[in-house]
Amino acid sequence: MSTSTEIPFTESEERRELRTQVARLAGKYGRDWFTEKARAGEKTTELWLEIGKAGYLGINIPEEYGGGGGGIGDIAAVCEELAAQGCPLLLMVVSPAICGTIITRYGTEEQKQRWLPGICDGTGTMAFAITEPDAGTNSHNITTTARRDGDGWVLNGRKIWISGIDEAGNVLVVARTEDARTGKLKPCLFVVPTDADGFEAHPIPMEIVSPEKQFQVFIDDVRLPADALVGDEDGGLVQLFAGLNPERIMAAAFSTGLARFALGKAAAYAKERVVFQAPIGSHQAIAHPLAQSHIEIELARLMNQKAAALYDAGDDMGAGEAANMAKYAAAEAACDAADRAVQTHGGNGISQEYGMAGLLVATRAGRIAPVSREMILNFVAMHSLGLPKSY
Ligand SMILES: Cc1cc2nc3c(=O)[nH]c(=O)nc-3n(C[C@H](O)[C@H](O)[C@H](O)COP(=O)(O)OP(=O)(O)OC[C@H]3O[C@@H](n4cnc5c(N)ncnc54)[C@H](O)[C@@H]3O)c2cc1C
Repeated sequence: MSTSTEIPFTESEERRELRTQVARLAGKYGRDWFTEKARAGEKTTELWLEIGKAGYLGINIPEEYGGGGGGIGDIAAVCEELAAQGCPLLLMVVSPAICGTIITRYGTEEQKQRWLPGICDGTGTMAFAITEPDAGTNSHNITTTARRDGDGWVLNGRKIWISGIDEAGNVLVVARTEDARTGKLKPCLFVVPTDADGFEAHPIPMEIVSPEKQFQVFIDDVRLPADALVGDEDGGLVQLFAGLNPERIMAAAFSTGLARFALGKAAAYAKERVVFQAPIGSHQAIAHPLAQSHIEIELARLMNQKAAALYDAGDDMGAGEAANMAKYAAAEAACDAADRAVQTHGGNGISQEYGMAGLLVATRAGRIAPVSREMILNFVAMHSLGLPKSY
């Protein structure tokens, strides 16, 4: 017998309706539109603004700041359905989910009023910058430093692989300040305008077919007012962690959406393509890998649903384990689905016309970012299995 405290295994009617509506909206644009934009070096701003206007972009943000008052499960559903229509929007992971969550939880009233409405309607996209060239995965080693300067701050450092700087008015930068007592550096979060003096960003040529670009960022003596600091100077780490579960849940949704898109294309092709008198999907060598992918995708989605439900119920610890596992499973399922979709298409799998090969790199990125599969395996080995730390 189920009780009201149990997590249901199916999504609510409301969530399913949300998925249908988002899929309908994204379906008007579709994969061909998305890849044409990417190949022409153009942006997908129309879609971004339309989901903002429809209330989907800030669905996880409180209503008083222009959002929908929903949870991470809602915004993850939006992210997944966009990707499942072939229109994955990476900046959803960053702007509403990471930055939106951190500012909602730790920003002052004035900061929330200032930044959240633009994040919600898409006119004030915010990028997120933690990764540095020398620190890489080891974000405890970041060296971007904020020094007090009168009432304000001066920021210096380097960031790399930062998504969407060219589409963002501001970027939430993870820096470090010196603890006055111990002299040790502690993490702090600052909102930095992308047009600030001393802030420069250079696009990194990538093999991903996406309108969203990655950048190397140079921060040289960028002066910031006192209220650029988000949250408490002493609570930086906790505040940063608040953005990590949403990041993993969104990354998982991004991957399962792409995986569903690849699998849908593969199944459709396998039904139509006839080589030896019968559709290729009648051969188990084609059918079984696709069936396997369906199972793997559904398992990843179920774990992500659990992660989102735990997070939205306020269980950050429980959500952490589930979100890591969901992100791992989703990235693996997506890589395999893309590979199998290419194989199903034969030569067409690597033609531009069918657009399948581009999915290999797009899904592969999910094994690396925002947290690599190895770091998730480290987390599970240590936290779930109690094994010694290896690094
Ligand atoms: C498409 C894309 C978008 C991104 N967007 C953003 C963004 O918007 N903002 C941002 O801040 N960052 C962003 N990143 C950065 C991303 O989070 C990092 O690339 C990722 O954390 C890995 O860091 P790294 O590339 O420096 O790899 P490295 O740290 O150099 O790691 C290289 C390899 O070594 C492995 N490794 C390292 N340490 C260990 C260990 N202890 N045990 C086992 N294996 C280990 C890693 O898993 C990885 O496979 C993005 C990256 C990509 C590819």
